[in-house]
Amino acid sequence: AALGLHAVSAIAAVRDVVVEHEQELGNLDAIAGDGDHGIGMRRGVDAAVAAARSTASNDVGASVHSILAAAGEAWSEKAGGTSGALWGTAVIAAGAALGNKDSYTSRDAAAAVEAFSSAITELGKAELGDKTMVDALLPFRDAFTAAISGGAPVGRALAVAAAAARSAAEQTAKLRPLKGRARPLAEKSVGHPDPGAVSFGLIVERLGRHID
Ligand code: ADP
Ligand code: MG
Ligand code: MG
Repeated sequence: AALGLHAVSAIAAVRDVVVEHEQELGNLDAIAGDGDHGIGMRRGVDAAVAAARSTASNDVGASVHSILAAAGEAWSEKAGGTSGALWGTAVIAAGAALGNKDSYTSRDAAAAVEAFSSAITELGKAELGDKTMVDALLPFRDAFTAAISGGAPVGRALAVAAAAARSAAEQTAKLRPLKGRARPLAEKSVGHPDPGAVSFGLIVERLGRHID
């Protein structure tokens, strides 16, 4: 039960950072996309928090797996849009990788990050340089895996990897979008970072502060 509540509070922390940046993410998506990245992420994460809380309150022994499954399903369903489907699927995959254990090691965390990352690249089929969230996700995964392999505790590995994700997200500004809704207006996007990469960086940065 205690671990399930950790999952609930982690999703609530993600919600906080999305709410704080909702407007900014929408503005960024409006440059070459349809302007709904802020509201889409907000709707998705609101639904995810509600689903996680109701799963945990209906069953005090609810596993991390079942809480993240409910959260991810709700996220996909309520967010609409490309990023919602990707985030929802990835949260479900991370939960499935974590399963239902009494305690988790840093290796379990690395496996969850790997599952999250693979779910997004398998569903979205974006590659590095396409100017999507994948440009922040893969550097994050690589830095996280390296830090864990080097013996870092999860919170430290997350902080290091989040810094890598934030800087990689900023560097998408120079790219032209090759996937997603921003592609037809690719020229307008140059000089501005990809909204999905920025939101990913902000979220993992907040998780790094939240988890020790
Ligand atoms: P939509 O584009 O459907 O309006 P959002 O605005 O919420 O959805 O999300 C846009 C973000 O989704 C982009 O900034 C990009 O990071 C991400 N994205 C779009 N297509 C893909 C893809 N195929 N793989 C990974 N990420 C993608
Ligand atoms: Mg959009
Ligand atoms: Mg849209």
